[in-house]
Amino acid sequence: MSRFLNSKYCELEAYTPGEQPTDMKYIKLNTNESPYPPSQSVLDAVNSEAVSILNLYSDPTCKSLKAAIADLFSKRPENVFVSNGSDDILNFSFMAFCESAKRKVRFPEISYGFYSVYAELHGVEYTAVPLNDDFSINVKDYCHNDATVVIANPNAPTGLALMLDEVETIVKANPDQLVLIDEAYVDFGGESACGLTEKYDNLLVVGTFSKSRSLAGARLGYAIANKDIIADLEKIKYSTNPYNINRLTLLAGEAAVRDNKYYMDNCKRIIETREYTQKELVRLGFYVTDSKANFIFAKSDDIGGEELYTKLRARGILVRHFTKEKIKDFNRITVGTREQMQALLDAIREILEEKKNENS
Ligand code: PMP
Repeated sequence: MSRFLNSKYCELEAYTPGEQPTDMKYIKLNTNESPYPPSQSVLDAVNSEAVSILNLYSDPTCKSLKAAIADLFSKRPENVFVSNGSDDILNFSFMAFCESAKRKVRFPEISYGFYSVYAELHGVEYTAVPLNDDFSINVKDYCHNDATVVIANPNAPTGLALMLDEVETIVKANPDQLVLIDEAYVDFGGESACGLTEKYDNLLVVGTFSKSRSLAGARLGYAIANKDIIADLEKIKYSTNPYNINRLTLLAGEAAVRDNKYYMDNCKRIIETREYTQKELVRLGFYVTDSKANFIFAKSDDIGGEELYTKLRARGILVRHFTKEKIKDFNRITVGTREQMQALLDAIREILEEKKNENS
């Protein structure tokens, strides 16, 4: 830390992103990316003459991309916001819709680690609400409160999803609070709340192109809400970085929206692979949650979470381990291709066998 840092950031503990190692080629099952490449039309779009005009700024209104997203979700462009990854939108939302002790924020204790970081960053008081023992969210905990509500649905890293009527109950019970539903993983078996944004002017749905749409490296997120909420987000964007989506990403995103079938077919394959892998893990003695996301949340009584993570890493397979007490026995395993998951299962079988032999 330099002596120049603003004192309000001295104690801030930054978010730790998943590893992106470059020392060797891993089977990467640690940051919930899609194992499938972008569609051909996305590749064509970014390989077009767009590259030759990178000397020019991108369109700050993102008109064409917003129109495509609006079409996809049957909304109007004024109901759509786009930004540099959904992390950016979450950050803007904490800036726009939370305020120190005046407008606090509530989110589940076990959820996306960035929520508490944004709260700290912007000096917002927050309540990390404990989950039920089975990791499910208790809907009542989010009703009739005096705080902005932020919920990942499906939740991460548990993979558990609220039903749409449960989300609606929360939105309805907080008419004077903003409810942000983070739908990063919704395309893998969740129910989107996008359809409710016309009915409720306090609902903000945030999504990403990083998971189901194979564009994690392009950095693109979107939000759907009432036009006044969108205008607030635009205000924050225009007060920080109006050109925050580059030309290539604008084109890639638009092509990806137009190629919806390719991505939804990939989601089906990922769901099938998830179900297969979960069954195999259960056969190996694991407990798995009922994940509706593109990852599996699993633990075994035969091996600790950290030990399994370390032994898989040594075999060239990366998964995500969290040190938080309540989930330290688990690993979060991104669903890759069937072949990648087969390699994972073979490695786990070997590790458990070795451990058995050590103990006998
Ligand atoms: N929300 C959740 C729940 C996530 O897990 C992630 C990915 N780490 C994000 C938002 C952010 O995704 P991105 O910034 O890549 O759009």
